[in-house]
Amino acid sequence: METFRQFDRDPNHKNWLKGIMVLEDLQDCLKPFIEDETEKLHEDLRNICGPRQCDNNCNPKYQGPNQNPVFNCDVCPNWRKEIQNKHKSGKLMWKNSEAHEWSRDKWAVSKVYMPDGHKKHNSIDDFDIHSFLTLINQCKNFQRFELGELCNKVLNVRNRMMHSPRYQLDQEDLLDFLDRIRDLGDQLSKKNSGFKKLAEDINEILNLNFRLVETEELERMENAIYTAVQLANEYRDNQDSLNEVVVKLEQCISERDSQILVLRQRNKTQQKKHDWEIQRLQSALVHETTEHRNTKVQLENLHRELQEEKKMRSDEQKYWPRWREFTWRNWEIQNDPVKSLIKKEDLAGGLFAVLGGLLLALFAILK
Ligand SMILES: [Zn+2]
Repeated sequence: METFRQFDRDPNHKNWLKGIMVLEDLQDCLKPFIEDETEKLHEDLRNICGPRQCDNNCNPKYQGPNQNPVFNCDVCPNWRKEIQNKHKSGKLMWKNSEAHEWSRDKWAVSKVYMPDGHKKHNSIDDFDIHSFLTLINQCKNFQRFELGELCNKVLNVRNRMMHSPRYQLDQEDLLDFLDRIRDLGDQLSKKNSGFKKLAEDINEILNLNFRLVETEELERMENAIYTAVQLANEYRDNQDSLNEVVVKLEQCISERDSQILVLRQRNKTQQKKHDWEIQRLQSALVHETTEHRNTKVQLENLHRELQEEKKMRSDEQKYWPRWREFTWRNWEIQNDPVKSLIKKEDLAGGLFAVLGGLLLALFAILK
C-alpha cells in the first residue's frame, strides 16, 4: 500500500499516469482511423491482385525478409509482391500471419507491417499503439497524411514511458511528450475529423488535479457525500415548506391589507357623515341659540310689559277709586240730578244689555 500512497504523493508518478492517459486517448482516436485505413489497404490490394482467394492453404515457412518463399498457388505470390510494394521502410513481419489469409483478411495483411508478436491477433482491440504507429510508419498507404517523423517521435514517447525505471515522468518531459502527441493529432486531423478533439483532451489531462484514493476511503467519501446530499434534500424540503408558509402569510397579509383598506374607506365615510352631522348640529345650535335669544328678548319685553301692566293696574287700583269719586262728583255736580242717581255699575249693565240685544238681532238677521 505504501507504493500506492507513494504514487499519490509523487507528482512525477502522476505525470507518468497523465502520459499513459494521453497515449490511451491517442489510441482511442487511432482505432477507427486504423480500422478504416486497413480496410482501404486491403481493398487496394484486392483491386490489384484480383478477387480470387487462396484455396491451397498456403503457409510457407518464414525464410527471412530477403528470401522468396515457394507457394502452391498463383494467388498468394501476387499478394506477397504487392504487400512488399506497399512497404515503405522497416522490417516486414511475415510470420505475424499465414499467407493464405492475405487474400481473405485485412488484418493478415496489416500485421505484416506491425512488430512481431501479433500472430493470434485479428481485431482492432488486439493491437496496441505501438502496432498502430508502426503500421503507419511502414505502409505507403499512410504517406498521403504527410506525417514525416511525427509517428517516430510518438513511438519514442511510448517507449520511454514503458521503459521508465520507476514509472515516473518529470514535468518537462511530460510537456514535451504531450506536444509530440498533440502535433501528430493536429496533422492527422487535417484529413480525419476523429482527431480534432485530441488536443482539447490533452489539455484537460495536463491540467487534471487528481488523487489516488483507496476504496475504503472512497466509500467514506461517498458516504459523506450521500449524507451531505440527504441533508441538502432535507434542507430543500424544509425550504419548500417554509416557502409555502411564507406564501400563506403573504396571502394573509394581503387579505388583511385589503380589509384595512376597506375599513379605512368605511371610517373615512363615517367620519365624513360625522362631520356633516356635527356641522348640521352646530348650525341647528346656532339657530336655536338665536331663537332662544329672540325668545328671551320677547319674554323680557313681555315681562316688562307685564310689569308695566301690573304697575298700571296697581296705580289704577290705587288711584281709580279716588279718581272715580272725584270724576263722579264732578259729573254729578255738572249734570242732571236724575242721572246722578245712575250708578256706574248700572251704566255698565245697561251697556251690556244693549250689546246683547244687538248681537241677538244680528244672529236673527243672519239666519
Ligand atoms: Zn496460396
